[in-house]
Amino acid sequence: MTEAAATPGSQSALRQANERRVVDVLRRDGTRTQAELARATGLSAASVSNIVRGLRAAGTIVVRDTSSNGRRAKAITLVRTPGSVVAVDFAAGRVSVAVGDSDGNMVAREEIDYDVASDPERGVRRAAWLAETVLLRNRINLGSVSSVVASVPGPIDPGTGEVGGISCLPRWAGFRPAKALTERLGLEVLAENDANLAALAEQHRGAGVGAEHVVHLVTSDGVGAGIMMAGQLFRGAGGTAGEIGHIALDPRGHVCRCGNRGCLETFVGANYLLDMLPQNTGVARGPGPVRIPDMVAAALEGDPGSRRIIAEAGTALGQGTAIVANLFNPERVIVGGELAGAGDLLLDPMRRAMELGSLGSALERLELVPGELGGDASLYGALRMAAQHVG
Ligand SMILES: [Zn+2]
Repeated sequence: MTEAAATPGSQSALRQANERRVVDVLRRDGTRTQAELARATGLSAASVSNIVRGLRAAGTIVVRDTSSNGRRAKAITLVRTPGSVVAVDFAAGRVSVAVGDSDGNMVAREEIDYDVASDPERGVRRAAWLAETVLLRNRINLGSVSSVVASVPGPIDPGTGEVGGISCLPRWAGFRPAKALTERLGLEVLAENDANLAALAEQHRGAGVGAEHVVHLVTSDGVGAGIMMAGQLFRGAGGTAGEIGHIALDPRGHVCRCGNRGCLETFVGANYLLDMLPQNTGVARGPGPVRIPDMVAAALEGDPGSRRIIAEAGTALGQGTAIVANLFNPERVIVGGELAGAGDLLLDPMRRAMELGSLGSALERLELVPGELGGDASLYGALRMAAQHVG
């Protein structure tokens, strides 16, 4: 092999191709000296030396002194695949983008307030712009991005990539976010449900570490669950697995947006809870409307109305989770979302309801814990999934 011929003006493409050859040899053959790399790739010693310097600076390889045939040499070992991954998180009023290294560690993160719900096409355009901006600011070439994963707050059909009909983003029903982002960025994009990604992240580096069978609940406007069985995400045939918000709890309850009555969501969804606040509430009113974190803060300070609302939400969440526990027998149930900030004010009533509603054997090895990754859990999960897809 000779050094790859390049079309004029594509020096950086040539350099990337040569770098790729060096990395491929290290991945295939393990630790090699610079001379061995030059032989295996057909590149000149000077080129290899140059590429090694760049990879070392990027943290892709480690170099140590050794000897080869009695002469001093440098032994080079690959520590991670070069390149970057990108995560995009669509939430109702916000788009976040994170850039990670090829292991999925976050290296940069930015978010903008944006009404994603009203128009999916415009939301995707905005997200693509933000991704390009974050990459540019961090001097990362779009060409070195190997994988992109988008988090969407709704069920996604794994076969078609379409967002399901009932989600926090009604106008996204039937939309294919991965396809739209792929067209914008010119990179292959995967889309995944936000609760699934949050489950993946908590299991990898948060409250689910060490557990193989994990259910991760996320409460927000609705409530969803990411289910991991034997370390794998369980999506179901059409991506609807884990939509526990529509477990029917009360046949005479409120009509839910899904058309059924008394769904779990009507007991724990943010708007339902905020509507229950009494007129002369002790919840501090900021410049904007009262939100769930305000109610949680008031409850933690002892406001009786907020405590009551959160306790009842905990009971309903426990009733729904009891059904999930009987079906899947998880070893850990993680509660994420803003409501989880209430800690035991939410988890204690939840635990009691689960004891009443599940088989003893389903709870024997079950730990109920708050999430550890907070509002960025889905973003971390998207980075993790993107890193798993790096070839
Ligand atoms: Zn419903």
